[in-house]
Amino acid sequence: MKIPTITRFAPSPTGHLHLGHAHAALFAWREAHDRGGHFLLRIEDIDRDRCRPEFERDLLADLSWLGEELEGFGWEQPVRRQSDCLDDYAQALARLEEMGLLYPCFCTRAHIRAEVEQAVAAPHGPDGPLYPGLCRGMAPEERAARREGGESYALRLDMAKAVKLAMEMEAGRDGPLEWRDVVKGIVVAQPRIHGDVVLARKDVATSYHLAVTLDDHTQGVNLVTRGEDLFSATHVHRLLQALLGLDVPDYHHHGLITGPDDRRLAKRDKAATLHGLRKSNITPAEVRKMAGF
Ligand code: GLU
Repeated sequence: MKIPTITRFAPSPTGHLHLGHAHAALFAWREAHDRGGHFLLRIEDIDRDRCRPEFERDLLADLSWLGEELEGFGWEQPVRRQSDCLDDYAQALARLEEMGLLYPCFCTRAHIRAEVEQAVAAPHGPDGPLYPGLCRGMAPEERAARREGGESYALRLDMAKAVKLAMEMEAGRDGPLEWRDVVKGIVVAQPRIHGDVVLARKDVATSYHLAVTLDDHTQGVNLVTRGEDLFSATHVHRLLQALLGLDVPDYHHHGLITGPDDRRLAKRDKAATLHGLRKSNITPAEVRKMAGF
């Protein structure tokens, strides 16, 4: 039996959607639609400080408007909201903790910055300087005392340990840690470039990396389409899939829509929001064209 293609669009309601989101949504929808598959919508709202209900309401309305008169456009119900799934993320964290792969990190950003600044050659990853490992070697008694004392902490992945274990686990399964990328072919995952990533933030009991990887598995997404700006994140996601025994989807990291000045669009570019465009006289078909469809 042929397995249907399942794709998703996963916006965060931290602002209005812009043309880049329109491109990502239409891209994911088309990949599913053209193969007779399923297109899902997921609301990535773990960041309670930055997400707003009105942005979520508007994004649903703006997306429906965007797909007007586009045959077969729409997403399946129910829409998954990450804020409803915190127990799933907690369970995965507990599992990684049992495997001895997590450690609490009490550092503030300022503390990390100061440490990086005074290092002779601080290693950098795709998102900036790597965490210098300050809390990695903390004595268990100090860890316990600081946790019990109510100090806030993030949970970081001990990357060296995690990669070693994942390689051992994968050797017994499908071989090397890699994924199939529609644009780049087989890509060997190199999660070490990210250093000890945060898997649960101080203010949110999960992180983008953990939530997105688990949700794609839980929702049966087998073709992850997203912008090429998230390509490097896939190295971490592939590692988490190995450690947690999750399915490995194919990935299609597509190009980004840029503004007139060639900069990629961001939520701050008000003029290009779907919400703003919708209020002008423009038609959804014209906006789809602007978004490359
Ligand atoms: N929520 C992410 C964003 O809005 C996208 C996550 C993903 O596609 O993996 O940028």
